[in-house]
Amino acid sequence: MEGVFETLGDEPMTSVDGRPTVGMQRALYGCQTSVLWAHFFDRLGFRLVLTPPTNPLISKLGIEAVTAETCYPVKVSLGHVKMLLGKTSLLFLPSIISIEVKNPGEVGFFCPMVQGNSYISRAALDIDMSSVLNPVVHLNQGTGRLAQELWEQTGRKIGVGKRTIESALLYAKEREADFTNDLIKTGRKFFEELNAGSPGVIVTGRPYNLYDERLNLRLGRSLSKIGLSAIPMDFVDCSNVDISDFPSMYWGLGARILRTAKMIGGTNGIYGLHLTNFGCGADSFLEHFYKYCMGEKPYLILELDEHSGVAGVMTRLEAFKNVVYNSAGAVPEQEQEPRFAN
Ligand code: SF4
Repeated sequence: MEGVFETLGDEPMTSVDGRPTVGMQRALYGCQTSVLWAHFFDRLGFRLVLTPPTNPLISKLGIEAVTAETCYPVKVSLGHVKMLLGKTSLLFLPSIISIEVKNPGEVGFFCPMVQGNSYISRAALDIDMSSVLNPVVHLNQGTGRLAQELWEQTGRKIGVGKRTIESALLYAKEREADFTNDLIKTGRKFFEELNAGSPGVIVTGRPYNLYDERLNLRLGRSLSKIGLSAIPMDFVDCSNVDISDFPSMYWGLGARILRTAKMIGGTNGIYGLHLTNFGCGADSFLEHFYKYCMGEKPYLILELDEHSGVAGVMTRLEAFKNVVYNSAGAVPEQEQEPRFAN
């Protein structure tokens, strides 16, 4: 992504290298789709500006802005959007209905709290819509339909035609595929280098938890500190895992989590840690299926909220490490190099 995005600082960034900027939150869908949008806007002559990683100020702004009780990721998202107001030339606040799915028959819906983020933000933050791009888009419908949606809803505001949008999308999707392949390669290397007999952990969850150190309470560092080798689910290709025993799984991320869970459940020496949030409606259903996929294997479900104490998490991780090593019949190593790819 180097060279195609900037991180917002204290000062407004209305242009970079003569290009008008487009602000996007580094939260919710922003943690999952920023590679796509950064390359897309780059191709159109804009520069994507992401908010910095969640910090105490962003968290506070979000919690203060929320108008009804929600999960923490949604509160944090409001803080990110608030940070962007008036700081970039345009603000990208899409309603992303679905994610890309590889398996025909799946609908890949985002949680309604993510789908409706644009509306929640506008209601909570009283946003001036004159410089906002807020298309409703379906990432599961192929490039042609997506280009049509973007052109109809933003083409006039950004001054580009449908063909230009389609060609920028094709390019951005290629870059996104390259990025995904790099993650998978890193994941393969991780498993190849895992010490013989040592258990490995795959952490499932939603990107805005997995890759935000405020939301996951530095989970990767904590796992590394206690010497438990772990990797997030996006580094493992589970796209061919059959989940036809969950025929109504219409959540896109839910399907990915269950595919990974089934792979973990059926693979010797690999264990599962699921990261979730207090108040997550989607996971309140999903966790039952996750447990089912684990069968007799021990696993850990870590449910976090806006409280920021790491000590309680460490206690659970250390207990989980003992259980996992006992289950694998392995001897824990005292000191290990950091092994959490993040
Ligand atoms: S999936 Fe859960 S954590 Fe994510 S936005 Fe929806 S309710 Fe919140």
